Amino acid sequence: MKRYESWGRYPQAPAKEIRTMFWRNDDFPIKEDRLPMLAYGKGRSYGDVCLNEGGVLVDTEHLKRLIAFDEKNGILRCEAGLGLDDILEIIVPKGWFLPVTPGTKYITVGGAIANDVHGKNHHKAGTFGRHVTQFELLRSDGRRLHCSPDENSDLFRATIGGLGLTGFITWAEFKLIPINTAGIIEEKIRFANLNEFFEISGSSDKDYEYTVAWVDCLASGEHLGRGIFMRGNHATGGFPLDPHHGVRLGVPVDFPNFVLNPLSMKLFNEAYYNVQRQKEVRLVTHYEPFFYPLDAVKRWNRIYGRRGFLQYQCVVPPTDGVEAIREIIRRIAHSGNASFLAVLKEFGDIPSPGLLSFPRRGITLTLDIPFQGMPTLQLLSRLDEIVRQVGGALYPAKDARMSAENFQTFYPQWQEFSQYIDPRFSSSFWRRVTNNQEGA
Ligand SMILES: Cc1cc2nc3c(=O)[nH]c(=O)nc-3n(C[C@H](O)[C@H](O)[C@H](O)COP(=O)(O)OP(=O)(O)OC[C@H]3O[C@@H](n4cnc5c(N)ncnc54)[C@H](O)[C@@H]3O)c2cc1C
Repeated sequence: MKRYESWGRYPQAPAKEIRTMFWRNDDFPIKEDRLPMLAYGKGRSYGDVCLNEGGVLVDTEHLKRLIAFDEKNGILRCEAGLGLDDILEIIVPKGWFLPVTPGTKYITVGGAIANDVHGKNHHKAGTFGRHVTQFELLRSDGRRLHCSPDENSDLFRATIGGLGLTGFITWAEFKLIPINTAGIIEEKIRFANLNEFFEISGSSDKDYEYTVAWVDCLASGEHLGRGIFMRGNHATGGFPLDPHHGVRLGVPVDFPNFVLNPLSMKLFNEAYYNVQRQKEVRLVTHYEPFFYPLDAVKRWNRIYGRRGFLQYQCVVPPTDGVEAIREIIRRIAHSGNASFLAVLKEFGDIPSPGLLSFPRRGITLTLDIPFQGMPTLQLLSRLDEIVRQVGGALYPAKDARMSAENFQTFYPQWQEFSQYIDPRFSSSFWRRVTNNQEGA
């Protein structure tokens, strides 16, 4: 049976009912029971932004038809439940690619809009929402609103990054980018500490479409913040326009909790850093391992066991934020409760189109933390304070625990946003960060 949980599997917040939309012209699946509603994509958000405890989740799984594909100009229109994985199958053979893609292709277009997702090219292309030209929003009163930068533009802006709260997106249209092959020219550079990261990142943004770094969060002292910087551009040769690459392995069971301990984490991080002996490696690779290394292992979230894990993603301003990032890594290293995955990237100065979008100019750090109860929550609350002090923010798509006070400080526009919320829509996340348990 399909489980409606988020990727981090924490918190467990079961909906009372699941309903399904089959056709984009279907009436909204609403009854007069007044339970709060929320669309559910593929549940690739980590925390509770896609959960609606005690309410109704509207599954978009069947809403996945291609509506139109202008192959000449690279414009695609589809139902909102279509996955980026399926879209790649359609567009890559025709020489087109996604304008922005997160680190997994297993998300829906509706989810990409509602969280206004970003990728390795944020410094060049901004967020996904910048490439959306129009969509239809179905409100609970039955109205179907055509939204674009020129029509219902306030709802267009509120829905991009609007956490699924402004209504149900039935279909959307967005622009693609042209590619000649499925290859990426990739360079991997070892860096010894955070200063070196900022030097490489600063000098890469102009010439490289995609940049990101993996950081060894358990290294301390002079090695604090060491890692591997990855940058790349679409290749003009090397791979045919074929979306298929490699096989998918799976994690068949939940790992027991003792598998992930400070020692195994340290060994993993050491090994990952040292596997690249040379300072710099250059290769041509298929886009799959470059953009979606984790997708190679199906249900990899099970390695964190039944207790699940938390992802922590913050953004801090460019200058004041450097010390904040250093302090966060220092605290994580000291706690020993760190992750296989720690990703560092500089966001560019490209405004996000959504009223509530997360990306803004600065440095963003992403960490996976196994959930170990209160000590984990206390550690992350201390990190929140660092982020708050320098005027940064946390990413709702990754959050399961930030306080209402912090959310409202990170997103002072939340009240302005509230006027666009559909009165029948809510989520576990929204009730938590607005201190409102009504309807839950
Ligand atoms: C391995 C991995 C890597 C990731 N990397 C990145 C990254 O690099 N950058 C990034 O930004 N994110 C990243 N994410 C997060 C992910 O991209 C987002 O959480 C995304 O929104 C998930 O989409 P989904 O389709 O699974 O939606 P869900 O998680 O199911 O839902 C997300 C939100 O979208 C809303 N929604 C879904 N469909 C509709 C609809 N039809 N109408 C209205 N609202 C709707 C939901 O109500 C919910 O609020 C990553 C996630 C994973 C698991």
